[in-house]
Amino acid sequence: MRKIAKEKRILTLMIKIYCRKKHRSQDLCEECRALLSYALNRLDHCRYGENKGFCNHCPSHCYNKVNQTKIREVMRFSGPRLIFYHPVMVIRHLLS
Ligand SMILES: [Zn+2]
Repeated sequence: MRKIAKEKRILTLMIKIYCRKKHRSQDLCEECRALLSYALNRLDHCRYGENKGFCNHCPSHCYNKVNQTKIREVMRFSGPRLIFYHPVMVIRHLLS
């Protein structure tokens, strides 16, 4: 799978897990939906394109302050849980 597409999938999943556990919403709440569409948009415009690393290892911080704080929290919360939900996917991601 292409890197951007893969990262989008992981990101979507992370935000979904976060929202379900933290905001108790079945689907994405307003705030998380906005964060997701922002994040996906940043990926579409990532200047590293298909050569990029995962966003949290990226040297250029393209997120604005507010969303950067939010996405960090999402990753910190959902990262460990993602391993539980999708072990194979995460392990592949870490090795790639
Ligand atoms: Zn939410």
